[in-house]
Amino acid sequence: MTAKKLPFSKEQLETIIANHPTPFHIYDEKAMRENARYFNKAFSWNEGFKEYYAIKSAPNPYLMKILREEGFGIDCSSVAELELAKQVGMSGDEIMLTSNDTPAYEFQLAKELGAIINLDDISHIDYLEKHVGLPKTICMRYNPGNLKQGNLIIGHPEEAKYGFTREQMIEGYRMLKEKGVERFGIHTMVASNELDPTYFVETAEILFNLINEVYEKTGVRIEFANLGGGVGIPYKPGEKPVDLDFVSAGIKKVYDEMIVAKGLAPLKIFFELGRAITGPYGYLVTKVRHIKKTYKTFAGLDACMANLMRPALYGAYHHITVMGKENEPATTKYDVTGSLCENNDKFAIDRMLPEIDPDDIVVIHDAGAHGHSMGFNYNGKLRSAELLLRENGAVTEIRRAETLEDYFATLDFSGVKDFK
Ligand SMILES: *Cc1c(COP(=O)(O)O)cnc(C)c1O
Repeated sequence: MTAKKLPFSKEQLETIIANHPTPFHIYDEKAMRENARYFNKAFSWNEGFKEYYAIKSAPNPYLMKILREEGFGIDCSSVAELELAKQVGMSGDEIMLTSNDTPAYEFQLAKELGAIINLDDISHIDYLEKHVGLPKTICMRYNPGNLKQGNLIIGHPEEAKYGFTREQMIEGYRMLKEKGVERFGIHTMVASNELDPTYFVETAEILFNLINEVYEKTGVRIEFANLGGGVGIPYKPGEKPVDLDFVSAGIKKVYDEMIVAKGLAPLKIFFELGRAITGPYGYLVTKVRHIKKTYKTFAGLDACMANLMRPALYGAYHHITVMGKENEPATTKYDVTGSLCENNDKFAIDRMLPEIDPDDIVVIHDAGAHGHSMGFNYNGKLRSAELLLRENGAVTEIRRAETLEDYFATLDFSGVKDFK
């Protein structure tokens, strides 16, 4: 069984907590950079390879700055995310806009930043042209429909709201070519949290096949293929991370057969992973408030669903470490809860853990993607701070905790006084 490791000791955490009250998220810069380098190295055979970090996973400009230093671009799907890219100083081909049901003002900002626009629907070609004009580079999102089926995928592409059909893709390239677009990309994403590495090779194969068809039918030479996000992470002890060297070698093989051999090279490979880039390197640090014994035993934390929704939302497993008790036997069955007036506000149900006491420090693993960012303010719960554990062991606060003033900022209490 692969043990779940932590980048800090109990003593280090106590020192951090002395300056930064719990709950907070903390990200491990060293591990994040090492993973980014491993990813880039795995695909170094492909000239122009780029990972566009799906910023919705952890939209923090400090994290983005680190990832940008490692050569990553940014994948955005809202004006706020484009604005964040702008604030980090990103522009041009560093930014990809992969959105859906897109408003004109979003296309507008993307065009101003020189971002690569990835269209979600054939009707968006005219919409984009009419409202902001067509840029020189355009990408389109392919929905493979029933081409991919079975338990390999999470959800059936035909049911998904995303992307163009195959026929629409061909028609789309034809239209864009006629309208003077010069550079073309192709995109697909139909998986989420997928741990099977062969899946990503199959995705590449499907796109490479379509790239051939597009060339034969329209003469359009596609410059880059964005294989999307969806690489899973081992949330559970014993699960294996996706072997990116294996994925890369598999993709290289089909690249040689279907792109190089057909005279369609060079083709740049892009990804837009979120989870696999920051997920394992972020931790939710929280303290136990109360132990409650009724029909079950509850460990009530000072964190709640506002800080990490995945367990409540999807029943997702997040590993839990009780600091200082790593080597004690897991003898007691707990529901580990937050304080929302929602019974599904639980980080774990029937989890065997060592005996827990109030004030114990509890670390929830793999909270670095779709963690803090998914938080909400239901019940007036405030979102926590985000901290960065630097490579030299120092800690930097990269987002302060919300305050009640933040929570009430959209209300005007003086108006209430005069309201009859
Ligand atoms: C959410 C999302 C991603 C990232 O997904 P992960 O599972 O975090 O890798 C990438 N691209 C698009 C379009 C997305 O919506």
